[in-house]
Amino acid sequence: MTAQESGSVTATRGEPLVVLSDVQKHFGQLHALKDIDLTVKRGEVVVVIGPSGSGKSTLCRTINRLETIDEGTITLDGQPLPQEGKALAALRAEVGMVFQSFNLFAHKTILENVTLGPIKVRGEKKEAAEKKARELLDRVGVGHQAEKYPAQLSGGQQQRVAIARALAMEPKVMLFDEPTSALDPEMIKEVLDVMIDLAEQGMTMIVVTHEMGFARTAAHRVVFMADGAIVEENTPEEFFTNPTSDRAKDFLGKIL
Ligand code: ADP
Ligand code: MG
Repeated sequence: MTAQESGSVTATRGEPLVVLSDVQKHFGQLHALKDIDLTVKRGEVVVVIGPSGSGKSTLCRTINRLETIDEGTITLDGQPLPQEGKALAALRAEVGMVFQSFNLFAHKTILENVTLGPIKVRGEKKEAAEKKARELLDRVGVGHQAEKYPAQLSGGQQQRVAIARALAMEPKVMLFDEPTSALDPEMIKEVLDVMIDLAEQGMTMIVVTHEMGFARTAAHRVVFMADGAIVEENTPEEFFTNPTSDRAKDFLGKIL
């Protein structure tokens, strides 16, 4: 074994980080998640695609426990998801989430949006939190906007702030639920570029998106959902060129 192979990052890369086993979720009569088995390894980028209503958002929301599940188990880094209290707040910090709508606090500055969680949830000192926040805002290309309010920024800038805000909590995994769907076309690339950069730096990511360019560039695996079930999963190359299920063929025929 070389020194590099024995280094801590290499040693842990590839271990299961998020594991869903036989997960079932109902909304009344609707079976929204059916027998979901999914393992996401540390450093892996998984793109989830599928028709509207197939359960993609619900899947994401179960992983940071915005939704409970009826049956099955979900573990993060080997630990079952906590049910409530401080442990649940800590989980939410470890699972960063970026939604279609940016959900920034309108009455707080960009800097405050990013420092709030680290100060309140992680107990960081204001000065340290601000230093880290400015670094993250620089990294996503909005460092010069730190003192402004969300409404003064474009949609693409706000979404990049939302990514910085999630990263400030030093998450183990980042969930993105259609992060570019609400953006004007010219702003999509600036957000995807930040996500590609994150992926290249080894962040574990679960990304719901119909941006096939992103999937081809950054995804290690594509998971295709339909009617609450995982119907097919494969590398992006295989999935896009040789989908095997009729549902996937039909879906790709509509979007490509
Ligand atoms: P997707 O993100 O793939 O479009 P969702 O996960 O949002 O799909 O929804 C899956 C199914 O569950 C849909 O039929 C949706 O209407 C339903 N659903 C989602 N959230 C709720 C909820 N809170 N209450 C009732 N039904 C819901
Ligand atoms: Mg959705």
